[in-house]
Amino acid sequence: MTVANMFGSKVFDDRVMKAKLPAKIYNSLKKTIDEGANLDISVANAVASAMKDWAMEQGATHYTHWFQPLTGITAEKHDSFITPSPDGGVIMEFSGKELIKGEPDASSFPSGGIRATFEARGYTAWDPTSYAFIKGKTLCIPTAFCSYGGEALDKKTPLLRSMEALNTQALRILRLFGNDTVKCVKTSVGPEQEYFLITKEMYDARPDIRLTGRTLFGAKSPKGQEMDDHYFGVIKPKVAEYMEDLNEELWKLGILAKTEHNEVAPAQHELAPIYTTTNIATDHNQLTMEIMQKVAAKHGLVCLLHEKPFAGVNGSGKHNNWSISTDNGVNLLSPGETPYENAQFLLFLCAVIKAVDDYQDLLRISVATAGNDHRLGANEAPPAVVSIFLGDELEGILQAIETDTPYIAAGKTKMKLGVNVLPRFTKDTTDRNRTSPFAFTGNKFEFRMLGSSNSIACANIMLNAAVAESLKIYADRLEGAEDFETALHEMIKKTIKDHKRIIFNGNGYDDSWIKEATQNRGLLNYRTTADCMPHLLDKKNVDMLTGHKIFSERELQSREEIMLENYCKTVVIEANTMVDMAKCYYAPAVEKYAAYMAQNAVAKKTLDPSVPCEYETSVVKRLSVLCDRIAKCADALQAVVLQLGDAENIDSEAYMIRDTVLVKMAELRAAVDEAETITAKEFWPFPSYADLLFSVR
Ligand code: ADP
Ligand code: MG
Repeated sequence: MTVANMFGSKVFDDRVMKAKLPAKIYNSLKKTIDEGANLDISVANAVASAMKDWAMEQGATHYTHWFQPLTGITAEKHDSFITPSPDGGVIMEFSGKELIKGEPDASSFPSGGIRATFEARGYTAWDPTSYAFIKGKTLCIPTAFCSYGGEALDKKTPLLRSMEALNTQALRILRLFGNDTVKCVKTSVGPEQEYFLITKEMYDARPDIRLTGRTLFGAKSPKGQEMDDHYFGVIKPKVAEYMEDLNEELWKLGILAKTEHNEVAPAQHELAPIYTTTNIATDHNQLTMEIMQKVAAKHGLVCLLHEKPFAGVNGSGKHNNWSISTDNGVNLLSPGETPYENAQFLLFLCAVIKAVDDYQDLLRISVATAGNDHRLGANEAPPAVVSIFLGDELEGILQAIETDTPYIAAGKTKMKLGVNVLPRFTKDTTDRNRTSPFAFTGNKFEFRMLGSSNSIACANIMLNAAVAESLKIYADRLEGAEDFETALHEMIKKTIKDHKRIIFNGNGYDDSWIKEATQNRGLLNYRTTADCMPHLLDKKNVDMLTGHKIFSERELQSREEIMLENYCKTVVIEANTMVDMAKCYYAPAVEKYAAYMAQNAVAKKTLDPSVPCEYETSVVKRLSVLCDRIAKCADALQAVVLQLGDAENIDSEAYMIRDTVLVKMAELRAAVDEAETITAKEFWPFPSYADLLFSVR
């Protein structure tokens, strides 16, 4: 099969709809997809029937409403198409009603207390803007998941609401610029996904990876990433086979997998798709993560999506490349050709700058998980401090506007500035600053704080919301202005003045930047999930998010609770796994090796009392100290986990996790890791870092 034939072959996409649906039905559905028009039940019935016939041709027997609950990757509950027929047999049926609405038993999905006061069940609602697809023998229908009170229980619903909010406000601005033909504005995302591959054999041998997705112990490998020989290096044959297979599976699902390469750490790789509309990109990224793991299993590999599977080498992130464009294909973050287009571009640019500064906390919150806390600020990923990289040229232009001085471009052209004339400039030659959490890269922003396992929904909800808010403030001001151009110029100037503290073109990994950012510029630095998450409920955040109808206040409360619960549960599972490994494996192994060495010394002394046995003695002494320490640290860790039961609420439990559990975990790990460096390999119960990181050949 050629790639062109393969691409989208498992997707009920526009091509299939056009071929399978009567023209009237197709046009009506298209109106719903493109313009959000209401969907008639007769149309839904026709679509459902065509979908079912097509799915059955592809071998499907079941369908599911596929959705994204608040934790975990995706959820599905399969129903078969069968309906009993009067003659005792079955017929295959699928109605419009079943397509539009599903009722999974939602009581075991996290809902942060929302459902307790409502009915115990929620329902899923078809998102016709994201195509249905086939996975195995099941037709998957992308849906949003809500409670009967209409409250969102998933990540998709607020994402769609945030896109709508941005659309509404951006259209107001475009109309002010005389742009009357644009029908809608959408954001697009291209998420670059990092991951690790290890062999199944190694995975099975490490209970910590199996239970928590990451190594909780492990002394540093003699060789890590210091040679920089892995990044963009030759892809190993086994990995190349995996990537080839993965691409094919993704293409069949209509996912535009485009680029793949090795990453910085050994065993680390990246896959990037071509960007697409944000809600579709979100569905595709969830599917990509799922397929990555499935395909790995076929190759005897395991794909690790954890943000920090190994200490001491880079963790995995996900770069969220984001832009805003109109339905006639104009990228609003692309510098234009004329002063007028440039003015519009500058206004959208300023909207983003203002949004990122005003809602640094929401952006940090949107990427907060226990796993990602190990990356942010660990000198390998952007820091926990949010800042924007613009590049020297663009920053120079903004500075010139702020101070009403001429801007001399690098290429010598002098840019004329005045009240009516905004500068003309060439597309920025943005250098590649890889240390910035939020970088302008020519015609898009790259938000780099996301962890590899994060759903991109959360980051894009906050980004869209914050930018919608800036645009709303601008539109309110400009719509009432006596002189549009003067008001525009003043507003751009004011934004630069008020928000330039968020712009930073230097090295974000530098300690001096953290000091400068927090002490001189007053930027926020929330190191952990426990620190940032409660700020979701700060008044300014609640006001903004409810103002744009992206979340209700109750939805926000429930999300804060769920995210913190998830943080606590994740760390507690890690802590319990550590205690178990330490007490049942590491301490006994160390003890056994120390005894073995002691016996050797005794045997030697028996033969010849004059032999020194210095080596044996020193190892036995050190291991005895470490073994005691391992036992004590494990007890101490167990004790602080038990104390969590006394926490008054989830916020204080999260603080206890941060201040006691994580600290005790680090102490236990240090003792075990040191013991590993002096214990004979044959006595050590688990594969080493070198075994894991270089397991795939
Ligand atoms: P890198 O950042 O690794 O140098 P690129 O800049 O080529 O790579 O692209 C990274 C990702 O950004 C890809 O997924 C690409 O499709 C996406 N991308 C490119 N242009 C846009 C855009 N206008 N909006 C959103 N994403 C984009
Ligand atoms: Mg990139």
